[in-house]
Amino acid sequence: MIAQKPEFEIWFVTGSQDLYGPATLEQVAKDSQVVVKGLNAAGTVPYPIVWKPTVRSAEEISAVCEAATADRKCAGVITWMHTFSPAKMWIRGLLVLGKPLLQFHTQFHRDLPWGSIDMDYMNLHQSAHGDREYGHITARLGLKRSIIAGHWQDKETQRRLGAWSRVAGAVTEGRSGRYVRFGDNMREVAVTDGDKVAAQIQLGWSINSYGVGELVKRVNAVTPAQVDKLLEEYKKTYVIAPELLNTPKQLERLKVQARLEIAIEAFLVEGKYLAFTTSFEDLYGLDQLPGLAAQRLMAKGYGFAGEGDWKTAALVRAVKLMGEGLSGATSFMEDYTYHLEGGKEMVLGSHMLEICPSIAAGPVKIEIHPLGIGGKDDPARLVFNAAPGEATNASLVEFGDRFRLLVNEVKTIAVPHEMPKLPVAQAMWIPYPDFRTGLEGWIWSGGAHHTAYSTAVGAEMLQMYADQLGLEYVCIGKTSTLESVRQTLAVQELLAHKGNFR
Ligand code: MN
Repeated sequence: MIAQKPEFEIWFVTGSQDLYGPATLEQVAKDSQVVVKGLNAAGTVPYPIVWKPTVRSAEEISAVCEAATADRKCAGVITWMHTFSPAKMWIRGLLVLGKPLLQFHTQFHRDLPWGSIDMDYMNLHQSAHGDREYGHITARLGLKRSIIAGHWQDKETQRRLGAWSRVAGAVTEGRSGRYVRFGDNMREVAVTDGDKVAAQIQLGWSINSYGVGELVKRVNAVTPAQVDKLLEEYKKTYVIAPELLNTPKQLERLKVQARLEIAIEAFLVEGKYLAFTTSFEDLYGLDQLPGLAAQRLMAKGYGFAGEGDWKTAALVRAVKLMGEGLSGATSFMEDYTYHLEGGKEMVLGSHMLEICPSIAAGPVKIEIHPLGIGGKDDPARLVFNAAPGEATNASLVEFGDRFRLLVNEVKTIAVPHEMPKLPVAQAMWIPYPDFRTGLEGWIWSGGAHHTAYSTAVGAEMLQMYADQLGLEYVCIGKTSTLESVRQTLAVQELLAHKGNFR
């Protein structure tokens, strides 16, 4: 289970009006309860869906929107117009709604009752025009929202509802999310820096630094018994060469990472932090850069990024929460080195240490090697190959007046040749739509070298995440061309100057 798991629920609100009389409204209420029960039973939404009484007036609509906004457990609101619900009644409520909004465009009955359909039936099942009236006002208000159309019993519709609910959870968690940085950004680096106040205004993320000395204090307080207990877990979970365990100096190096893991985790739990960053340039008083420690905390569900990169650390957490329980996994990632053989080009993704073992296929080894950077002692790290499959790389970058969520769909492949001297975990992928377009599109878009890499969360969810937060969204995907990416960038540039994306 993911660390710091939020206890959320999703509210289901059905819109109508008093025009129809009590018998019809009773039927509307019954039908929407059946829908909620069916969606809960489908199991695609990871949080309980809570039925709310039908809203029939501006007063009732405002009341439910205000309650949703105030309720800490409410991650988002699904709205459905079973009948016609005049949308001027919705303006007041929608303007105060502070939770992710889904317009669920469905109808109670899947099939027309061909032999018996009459005007009463038509008047009860009005989503086809009721949701359009409602959709007009959400469009006119320019609300941040998602839209899903389809019958509520359809498997694909249920899957998409699940995807939206996952996004709603990540958005709402972020609204009050706390993130800690040990030290500052790597000096002189542009893309990992940025405006933390702007991020808090738009995403809610509260990002604060602590001097690494705070960590040193906690590392020194870790007891030998705690370390021994964790070492037993390492031995059970990973492949460790006997020479490592039998060489006192190497064993001591491994224990340094165990102490770091215990100390950082205690800090995160105590402060209710969802993600953290470290910096190899700011390790004063620590013996090693957290490697194994950062990897294991990521595997528990914490977000992480290196070199003080708070945007990627918080994004890794959001993507981990979105993907929780789905097949696939999520890690901090960096585009490291290319293979440029004509027709077989690919990207070797890795980091100096910190790739999450949740993405591994095959054995995960603990190894100790020099870092070659930062001037500290040799850190232990987990070394493995990433599982092949369809994946996404997502990068949140800042342009001064806005944040851009940039996504590249990629295909991760089995490593074609062993790399016995590579001292770190790795993933190997080919960008979509092709290697050259993937790279040129990314660089035109100003994307970072750091990403949230995921085989669990695809572009569909990432786009919903951007929609719900009002982030600029650019995807280099299977059907993209360099022209389509550059046109998107040009249009977004104009929209940004009009004040969108904030
Ligand atoms: Mn890096």
